[in-house]
Amino acid sequence: MEYDLLIKGGRIYDGSGLPSYLGDVGVRGGKICEVGRLQGKAQRVVDADGLAVSPGFIDFHTHLDAQLLWDPLATSSCWHGVTTVIPGNCALALAPCKPEDRETIMRSFVRVEAMPFSALQAGIKWEWTTFPEYIRRLNERLGVNVAPLMGHCALRLFVMGEDSCKRAATTDEIEQMKTLLREGLLAGAIGFSTNQNPVHMFDDGRPIPSRLATEDEILALAGVLGELNCGSVQISQGSLGVSNDSEKSIGFFDELAVKSGRPVIWQSIAHRWDQPDLWRRQLDRAGDSLAKGARSYPLCNARLFNNRLTLKNAQVFDDLPTWKQLMFMPFEQRKQLFRDPEVRAKLRFEAVEDKSRSRFSRRWDLVYFIKAALPKNKYLEKKSVREIAQMKGKDVIDAFLDLSLEEDLEAEFQTSSTNGDEKAVAEILRSPYTLVGQSDAGAHLIYDAGYGYATRLLGYWIRERNVLTLEEGIRKLTFMVASIFGLDDRGLVRPGMAADLVVFDPRTVCDSEPEMASDLPAGEKRLVQRAVGVKMTVVNGQVLTEDGKHTGAFPGHVLGNARVGL
Ligand SMILES: [Zn+2]
Repeated sequence: MEYDLLIKGGRIYDGSGLPSYLGDVGVRGGKICEVGRLQGKAQRVVDADGLAVSPGFIDFHTHLDAQLLWDPLATSSCWHGVTTVIPGNCALALAPCKPEDRETIMRSFVRVEAMPFSALQAGIKWEWTTFPEYIRRLNERLGVNVAPLMGHCALRLFVMGEDSCKRAATTDEIEQMKTLLREGLLAGAIGFSTNQNPVHMFDDGRPIPSRLATEDEILALAGVLGELNCGSVQISQGSLGVSNDSEKSIGFFDELAVKSGRPVIWQSIAHRWDQPDLWRRQLDRAGDSLAKGARSYPLCNARLFNNRLTLKNAQVFDDLPTWKQLMFMPFEQRKQLFRDPEVRAKLRFEAVEDKSRSRFSRRWDLVYFIKAALPKNKYLEKKSVREIAQMKGKDVIDAFLDLSLEEDLEAEFQTSSTNGDEKAVAEILRSPYTLVGQSDAGAHLIYDAGYGYATRLLGYWIRERNVLTLEEGIRKLTFMVASIFGLDDRGLVRPGMAADLVVFDPRTVCDSEPEMASDLPAGEKRLVQRAVGVKMTVVNGQVLTEDGKHTGAFPGHVLGNARVGL
C-alpha cells in the first residue's frame, strides 16, 4: 500500500499563502509523503471534490490545561479543524506543582479563566509534580496535538510558595525559576507565558503570582529561551497593554523580543468602545517593532468577545470600584446594597457618567437581556437595557438593577466591550502583523465560547466580507502560527510535513451559535460550539473527526519545540 490515507481531488490551500490548486495529498506514517496527481493505492481514499484541503489549524491561545486531562479531543476545538492546541497561556499552568500547592494552582484558574472549582477538583487527577512528569501524563492519550507553554504563575508558586502572590522574587528565586524553565524547555515546552493584567486575581481578590513579577524577572526568564535558542514568550498586560500605557508595554515587548532573541506574542489588538482609535495606534506600533527586527507579534480575535453575565457572576465591571466591591460580597448583602439609592448613585456614576477608561463599554444599548428567570419577563428578552429602560420610564441603572433584583440576580445579560466596530476588526485581521486567534478555548466556560475563531474567520470574514483571500486566511491560521511558535514540521501541506490536515467546504464553513451543555466533571456547565462545513480533521495522518464525530482514534501527542523534538 503506497498511502495510509489519500485525499483526492480537493483544492489545496497549502498554508504558504500561494494560490490554491487542485490536487491530491498522500499520507504515510503520520506524514504527508506526496502532493500532486497521485495514483497509488491507499488504505483509505477520501473524495475531496469541491472541498478545500489545508493544514490543520493551530490554536495558540487556549486554557485547555485541565480539560485535556478528561477530554483528550479538546472539544469543541477539534470540530473546527484545530489539530494542535497550545495551553499554558497567560501564566496559568498545572505544572510544575507541589502537592501542597494544588489547590492554589486550581484556584488561579477559577476567576481569571472562569472555570468552576468543583469541575477542576473532580477532573484533575494529580499524577505529577514536575513539568516532564506532566508531559508524560498528557501524552498518555491525546486526540489533538498539544504544545504546552510553561506558566509563570506555576513557576513562582513552586519556588516562592504563598509569597508568590505578595512580592517580587529575589535573585536566588529567579535562578530557581530559570532552572525549572530550562528543565521544562528541555522536556519539550513550547515556551513561556507571563501575565500582568491588573484584573487577573484569585476569587478572594488576591493577585495571581505573575502580577508581582518585575520586568527584570520577566527578562531573566525569557533569557532562558534565548540561551537554549527555542520557544516563544506569550505575554499579556491587560489594560496596561491597551491604554495610554500601551506605548510602555509595547516597548517592553520589543525589549523582551530583542534581548531574548525569541518571538514574543502579545495580547492584544482589538477595537474597544472606550478608546475607539487605540487599535490603529497599536497596529502602527506593531509595524514599527517588526520593522526594526524585533519578533514581537500582536494577537487579535476574529470575533466579539461576548460576555454572558448575571449579577451573581459578572466580571465585566471589575474596573469599576463600587461594582467590583459589591460583586465580591455575599448575595444577600449584595442585593441589599443594589437597592440602596446612595449606592446606586455611585454605581450610576461609574457605569454611565464617568468617562475614565474601563473594560466595560458603558454602552447600555449593547447590553442585551438574553434570558429571563421569570416567565413574566420573557417579553423583555433580546432587548437592550437601554430599550428596557425606555419602556419602563427609568434610567438604565435602575432598569438593570430592578430587573436583576426582581429575578433574584438570575437575569441573564450579554454584552461585548471589544470588536464591535466591524470596519476596525476587518483592518486588524487584514494586517500582516496580527496573529488571528484568541479562542481562550477551555476558559470563560459559561460566559462565552470562542472555539470557532477559525471557522468564523473563514466563513464570515473571508467568504461573506472578503477581508482576506482564503489563501491568506489559511496562512494566518497555520504556517504563520507554526513559524512563530517553532512548530517547524507543521503548518504546510508539503511532503515531509506532519499530516495535520483539515478538509472543509469553503461554501458553507462557519461557526455555530454556542450551546450550554452539562458535560464538565462534577456535572458543571459549559458552552460548547459546533462547526458547519468541516468534513474532516486529520491529526498525524489519522482521521480524528469526520462530520463532527470522533472516529475513536487518539493520534495526538505532545509536540516538542525547535530544539527538542518529541
Ligand atoms: Zn488567556
